[in-house]
Amino acid sequence: MLPVCQSLQNSSRDRLSASPSTRAQTKARSGLYGLLCALFIPLLFVTRAQARSGAQTFDTALVPGATAVAAAVYPQFKSPVGTVRWLKEQMPLKVYITHGLSLDSIMDPQLGAPVANIDNLPGWPRVVAQAIDNGHIWKSLQPAKGFIPGHYQAAVEGVLAWKSFEPEGLISYQIVQEPDEADIYVFFTHHFVTKLGMALFANDIRGYTSKTNFSYAQVMRGGKANFQPVVIVLRTTDNQGQSMPLGKMKAAASHEFGHALGIEGHSTNNQDLMSIYYGRGTISQNDADTLRYLYHLTPDLIP
Ligand SMILES: [Zn+2]
Repeated sequence: MLPVCQSLQNSSRDRLSASPSTRAQTKARSGLYGLLCALFIPLLFVTRAQARSGAQTFDTALVPGATAVAAAVYPQFKSPVGTVRWLKEQMPLKVYITHGLSLDSIMDPQLGAPVANIDNLPGWPRVVAQAIDNGHIWKSLQPAKGFIPGHYQAAVEGVLAWKSFEPEGLISYQIVQEPDEADIYVFFTHHFVTKLGMALFANDIRGYTSKTNFSYAQVMRGGKANFQPVVIVLRTTDNQGQSMPLGKMKAAASHEFGHALGIEGHSTNNQDLMSIYYGRGTISQNDADTLRYLYHLTPDLIP
């Protein structure tokens, strides 16, 4: 059965170069592979994939058990298809924040539009996985128009805002300096486009997050999960075409990282970071209670 584990490793992560370090698996994945390999269980490919948009909202009436949660926990954290969160075995999560790189130069030849258009949101993780696997694609990526070094720092600060939960043992993550082994990637764009290549200049959407999730139950039964990177894309300009103010960039990064952690939908309280209004740009008490609640649940899906 050893080849099973071998194939798991080969198929999922083989990044950028042939150096020994890039051959190593992330802790996140090696923890699960260790589990899978130890169990010697046959392959079962988990095919169901779904991704959630930074701009989408979910119908809260569909959330089962919503009445059972504490008042400060907003039920929209749960997607219509269930609860999503990372497992302890996947942590510390590794986060790679690019210095402004855009995916927009990777074109879909049939559409004549960037592959990373918002109509193809579920496809973004695969796009990034392929770019990492093919060094020439990765090297061809250019900084997004409008990107300034301050945007990088703002994104870092936004992502790090969730560090305050580490002492509670709920989550742990680190920002890494090499792109080849990360679980979560942050890119930038001047503006988002549709599959028709239509630019969404005027709206105020500052970011999107795309995850490929896998059935927790199937993975625990020994099924293979061909894990894909989580992809966050942040916008470098606002709806006026001006450089995204640093405070707004930080809030956007923080909000999208909240989605990456598994808060799938949007709070309807506009004072919350995870509302579509970004609240005050910081993690509110409701956001905090929601994350705590989420990380005490058994997930239906894992990223
Ligand atoms: Zn959002």
